Amino acid sequence: MSAASVSRRPLIAANWKMNKTRQEAQTFCDVLLTDLGQPPVSVVLFAGFTLLETVRRALDELDPATATVPSLGAQDVHPEAAGAFTGDIAAPQLLDVGCSWVLCGHSERRRDHGERDELVGAKARTARRAGLRPMVCLGEDLEAREADRTFEVLDRQLNGVLDALGAGGGDDPPALALAYEPVWAIGTGKTATPALAQASHAFLRERLEARLGAAAASIPILYGGSVKAGNAAELITQPDVDGFLVGGASLDAASFSAIIANSS
Ligand code: PEP
Repeated sequence: MSAASVSRRPLIAANWKMNKTRQEAQTFCDVLLTDLGQPPVSVVLFAGFTLLETVRRALDELDPATATVPSLGAQDVHPEAAGAFTGDIAAPQLLDVGCSWVLCGHSERRRDHGERDELVGAKARTARRAGLRPMVCLGEDLEAREADRTFEVLDRQLNGVLDALGAGGGDDPPALALAYEPVWAIGTGKTATPALAQASHAFLRERLEARLGAAAASIPILYGGSVKAGNAAELITQPDVDGFLVGGASLDAASFSAIIANSS
């Protein structure tokens, strides 16, 4: 942990990917939101587009005086704010339904939709300009890890997004989060060891500080890759791990709730 690092409230995010009907999302919310209470963490639910309204209505029923109210996030956004882009979704539409976050550059989109650093940066920029917080995913694949090129990949991906955001310094706190997700650990059951995750997070933290100075302190760096209740407690003790982006284990309210409990 670098000298400029500060204690950040853990941020625990669920990425439901292409799962759940509206009824299933409602049931998840009924269970999670009954149990949640007020853990000392922030929570975000990244739901599929058709579920956003259902989840937002469930969140609206919570009383912030007595419960931690999760934020709502979407899983993608188009780099243009409106227009002839069939099948895509625009940042103002996400804001309109109550989103405050959006995922940018998830490795499944980089892999399946050919999203490159420039596009990921453009999406993050559009999201920020519209008032959404981008959670930018980055991470090396197995080939890069084995070739000892992890930091080179992370540096390239991070610079891509910071260049697009025009974040080269100054004190304006950039409203974004990073999610370090080694591609070989996503959905595979292979979690990065706490030491390995810490090494990548420390590298990202150092690079953020080099680019942004003091403003870097407000940017949480989450770990993602087969996080479960059983490994969350140790991973969260790493000084530069500020929370989790959880895929598979976030689909079940009880297992997501256990991750939140073990991260507090
Ligand atoms: C993810 O897709 O962001 C993810 C981390 O998935 P999983 O937890 O299933 O590895």
